Amino acid sequence: MTPAGAGGTTGTGPSRSGYGTVIVGGAVMGSSLAYWLSEDPDHDEPVLVVEMDPTYQRASTTLSEASVRHQFSQPVNIRLSMFATEFISAFHENVQVDGESPELGFRDTGYLFLATDDGMDVLRANHEVQQACGAEVALLTPTELADRFGYLNVDDLAGASLGLRHEGTLDAYSLMRGFQQRARHNGVEYVTDRVVGLRTDDAGDRVTHVELASGATVACDRVVNCAGPRARWVSDLVDLPLPVEPRIRGAWVFDCREPLDGPTLPLTIDTTGMHVRTEPPHYLAGAPPVDDSAVDPDDFAVRDAEWEEVLWPALVHRIPAFERIGVTHRWVGHYAYNTLDQNAVVGPATAVPNFYFCNGFSGHGLQQSAGVGRALAELITHGAYRTIDLSEMGHDRIVRGEPFLEKAII
Ligand SMILES: Cc1cc2nc3c(=O)[nH]c(=O)nc-3n(C[C@H](O)[C@H](O)[C@H](O)COP(=O)(O)OP(=O)(O)OC[C@H]3O[C@@H](n4cnc5c(N)ncnc54)[C@H](O)[C@@H]3O)c2cc1C
Repeated sequence: MTPAGAGGTTGTGPSRSGYGTVIVGGAVMGSSLAYWLSEDPDHDEPVLVVEMDPTYQRASTTLSEASVRHQFSQPVNIRLSMFATEFISAFHENVQVDGESPELGFRDTGYLFLATDDGMDVLRANHEVQQACGAEVALLTPTELADRFGYLNVDDLAGASLGLRHEGTLDAYSLMRGFQQRARHNGVEYVTDRVVGLRTDDAGDRVTHVELASGATVACDRVVNCAGPRARWVSDLVDLPLPVEPRIRGAWVFDCREPLDGPTLPLTIDTTGMHVRTEPPHYLAGAPPVDDSAVDPDDFAVRDAEWEEVLWPALVHRIPAFERIGVTHRWVGHYAYNTLDQNAVVGPATAVPNFYFCNGFSGHGLQQSAGVGRALAELITHGAYRTIDLSEMGHDRIVRGEPFLEKAII
C-alpha cells in the first residue's frame, strides 16, 4: 500500500486516474475489505472506496441491531461469526492508529432460539452442526428454560437453544469506523461520490472503468460491489443477475415498568419470528413485517401498525411483564435480502471475472464483515481463499439457480 497517512476522504475526487481495486460502498463491508487489502504486505495496489453518503445514516450498518451469534445452520456462517468473536476480542490491536480505536462495547448476553414441537427437528439439527463447529451452545427443555428465565412464558414451547458464550451485541458504528480509520491510515483513499456506470472492454467480460456521478472516471483492475441493499443497481450496470432486494426491518426500543426478574434477557428469537433483547437501560424488539416484500431503497417509513398489531402482542405473550411498557424510540433499516436462499453472494462473477460481489447479507452482515472482508482480500491478492473458504457463497449458484440455504434467519 501507499505510505501511512496518504489515504483519506477527499471532497475533490479521486487523486489518481487508475486503481487496482475500486470498492463501491464504504460501510462495514466495503471498509472491512479495504482494511484487509491494506493490511496485507503482499498487496501493493492502490485502493479507492467510493461512498455516496459519508454520514452513513441510511446504511444497513448504522441502522443495524448489531448483534453477533454462532447459531446458524451452515458451517460457513458459523465459522464467519466465530472469526468475528476472535476479531472483536482483539479489536483495539487490530484497528488502532496511534494507540486510539473506537469503543466497541461488546456485551456477551447470548442468543436464545425458542421452538414449538414443529421447530424442534431444525433446532436439534442446527445444534449438531454448531457443536461440530465448536460453538458453545446448549439445548434446554421447557422446564430448564423456565428455571433459568422465570419471566418467559414457556407453555407452548418444546425447547430452546442458548448460546453460552461469545454471542451478544456491539456498537456497529464503531466497528465500521475501526475498519475505516485503519484502512485510511494504511493509504486507502475514500471519495464521496456515487458510482453510476461501469465501462467494460469490447467483449463485455472485463470492467475497465468506473464512472462517477460527479463526472469523474477512473480506470481499475477490478470492482467490488459493497452497495448493501442497493447492490442490484450496481450489478445491473454490467447486466449481472443478483436476486438481492431491499426489505424493511423495524427496531423498537422500549422501557418496561417493572424490570424483568431474573438474568439478563438474551437476544430471544420467538416462534413467531419476533425477537427481543436488552438494550440497557431499555429493551429492543423487531420482527419481519407482515408484508415482507421489496421496498423502494428510499423508503424509511416506520410501520407503526406492525408494532401495535403484531409485535407488541407477541412480546406480551412471551414475556407477560411487557404488558406495561413505553416505546422510547424506533427506526427502520433495510436488509439486503437474497430471495434465492437468504445467504450472502461473495466472489467474482463468472461472466465478468473482475467484478466481485459482496452482497446479500440479510440480518447478519455486520458479524460477517471481518471474515468476509479478509476472505475476499485473500482471493484478490493471492488468487485463492486461505482462511475461510467462501466458495459455497459464489455467484455461480445464482446463475444456476441452486440455493445454498441458511435456515437460521432472523
Ligand atoms: C434493522 C437491521 C438489523 C440488523 N441486525 C443485525 C445484527 O444484529 N447482526 C448482524 O450481523 N447484522 C445485522 N443486520 C445486517 C447488517 O447491518 C448488514 O448486513 C451490514 O451492515 C451490511 O453492510 P454493507 O456494508 O454490505 O451495507 P450497507 O451498510 O448498507 O452499506 C452500503 C453502502 O453502499 C453505499 N452505496 C450504495 N450504492 C452506492 C453507489 N452506487 N455508489 C456509492 N456508494 C453506494 C451506501 O451509501 C452505503 O453506505 C441488520 C440490518 C438491519 C437493517
